[in-house]
Amino acid sequence: MQDDPIVVIGAGVIGTMTARALAKRGRRVTVIERLPGPAQLCSRGNAGIMAVGHAKAWAEPAAIPALGQALLGRAPGIRVTRLMDPALWRWGVEFLRHCTTAANKVNTDRERRLSRYSRDMLHAAEAEMGLPAATWHAGALYLFQDAAQFRNYAAKVGAGAEITALSRDDLIAREPGLAAMRDRLAGGLLSRIDSVGDCHLFTGRTAAWAAENGVEFRYDTDVTGFTRANGRITAVQTDAGPIACAGVVLATGVETPDLTRPLGFAPAIYPVKGYSGTWRITDPAGVPKLPFVDETELLAVANYGDRLRVTAIAEFAGRDRSLPADRVKLLDAYVRRSFGAAVDLDHPEFWTGLRPTTPAGPPYLGRVRRFENLWINAGHGQLGWTMSLGAAEILAQAMAGEPPALRDVSSRARWLEAL
Ligand SMILES: Cc1cc2nc3c(=O)[nH]c(=O)nc-3n(C[C@H](O)[C@H](O)[C@H](O)COP(=O)(O)OP(=O)(O)OC[C@H]3O[C@@H](n4cnc5c(N)ncnc54)[C@H](O)[C@@H]3O)c2cc1C
Repeated sequence: MQDDPIVVIGAGVIGTMTARALAKRGRRVTVIERLPGPAQLCSRGNAGIMAVGHAKAWAEPAAIPALGQALLGRAPGIRVTRLMDPALWRWGVEFLRHCTTAANKVNTDRERRLSRYSRDMLHAAEAEMGLPAATWHAGALYLFQDAAQFRNYAAKVGAGAEITALSRDDLIAREPGLAAMRDRLAGGLLSRIDSVGDCHLFTGRTAAWAAENGVEFRYDTDVTGFTRANGRITAVQTDAGPIACAGVVLATGVETPDLTRPLGFAPAIYPVKGYSGTWRITDPAGVPKLPFVDETELLAVANYGDRLRVTAIAEFAGRDRSLPADRVKLLDAYVRRSFGAAVDLDHPEFWTGLRPTTPAGPPYLGRVRRFENLWINAGHGQLGWTMSLGAAEILAQAMAGEPPALRDVSSRARWLEAL
């Protein structure tokens, strides 16, 4: 019934931003989350870089040899530890289909447009919610330790007003906090349109704002299935009983296929595991202010003012959420080498998360064809924070019957009326 709420399943960054975008349009919204609060899973300990100028789909011709190397254990940053997972094989076949130059161009363009729109939405959201500054918009660096890699990359990206190539000296002049890395650096790119912010903090504040503005959050509640009639979802089944609904949004990250399989479709979302470590900053002059991605060692580093966060690794390990000692050691060694004198090395916090990753790269965004009122916003991979506000906004526009501000940004699938 029209009076029933739209149920958003999942209070990660994606579900929370979706709930806000719907509530802004006057919709009654209930968010159902299995965990005790917002942003407790993949949205908790990520790098927080909004890689707007640098968004790119992972599936590209160069990914094929890189995966081969990863299978041999020789690729920095990529691991395959659950090779015999049938879900990985199904996903992998589709991923390989997207590893052409043409498909990469289409998928990267979708991610970039969605990311740019998201950045505009972020500025609007901060102003509208009056949140204390939780994001910084001075850009991000992409660093290279290998001169040939830097040259090739810089030539591919091309310089312009938004992206500038910097020599090693330029880098250190701009970011004295990189001084301890000086001898390892060959050069870098500055992307001026990137931002950084603590995704967990921002999602928590947005959830608080949404709750004050009428959104109901039901935490510690597990969605177990759906009641359907005449091509509609009429209720969401939970471990606390059914909830009648006017519509449903799946914002369930890596768990989306578990929920939808009984409905007759399974989005190709595979968990790509990553790790982070967070250190308290003791000497602000000894760490860079801008976030950066080390494109050679494949790590990302973000300075949140009082804390330094380092993230790494794309690991194909199924749903395993363990924190093996060698992964922690890799993060720890990088920080010791690069910023050891500027952080509290004795009390780091380590974390792991599963990036909900589609084979093509862009998320699944739109309405599920066989149901009039079932929508999906899931599968944002390594760019969930970057794309969150834009994806939420255009989904809410489509649900409200408004013309979406962007088209052709979703991954395609037979079961999906893709936005
Ligand atoms: C190491 C690492 C670094 C990253 N760095 C960046 C970065 O710098 N920039 C960037 O843009 N992105 C980054 N990401 C990616 C980003 O974190 C993710 O894309 C994003 O958090 C996904 O958000 P989500 O809301 O879809 O998933 P989640 O945050 O996992 O939320 C899904 C929610 O759904 C709930 N749920 C699932 N099933 C049910 C059910 N049946 N009933 C009730 N609740 C359910 C879960 O409990 C969960 O809370 C990084 C990821 C990792 C792992």
